[in-house]
Amino acid sequence: MAIRNIRLFGDPVLEKQCKEVKEVTPRTLELIDDMFETMYDANGVGLAAPQVGILKRICVVDVTYEDPILLINPRIMEKSGEQTGSEGCLSLPGKCGDVTRANYVKVEYYDENMERHEIEGTELLARALQHEIEHLDGHLYTEKVIGDLRDVGEEAPSDEDTEE
Ligand SMILES: [Zn+2]
Repeated sequence: MAIRNIRLFGDPVLEKQCKEVKEVTPRTLELIDDMFETMYDANGVGLAAPQVGILKRICVVDVTYEDPILLINPRIMEKSGEQTGSEGCLSLPGKCGDVTRANYVKVEYYDENMERHEIEGTELLARALQHEIEHLDGHLYTEKVIGDLRDVGEEAPSDEDTEE
């Protein structure tokens, strides 16, 4: 296992479409191990393969640090509801911004044995799944941020502050 270099905002690899995984090879398994290690090392709750420079449809998510989920070729099957909250990305360290997303998603994905599964998530898990799957299509949360990005720890401006 090894910690890989996380590609930062502005790196063109983050804007590319990733390819479907057809077969899980020993190299794919090594990539998956490294992605988990890299995510935990950076205190992230999700990481997508393009963030370590690999254009494959693979992402890892763990919103509790106790429930690692590997998703190969994930696809959102259903979504509903709405949530708005602060969101960050390991490719934009130290930054966050408010994003509105579905509050519920159902996602189909494949595991390392290429067996199909479905996962349902709400709130933070739903947010992380949507964020990571968008990475696989070359999209970053910055496209959806309401207002400006903030530094992590900075207060969100209240409505009163934004009035004259
Ligand atoms: Zn991200």
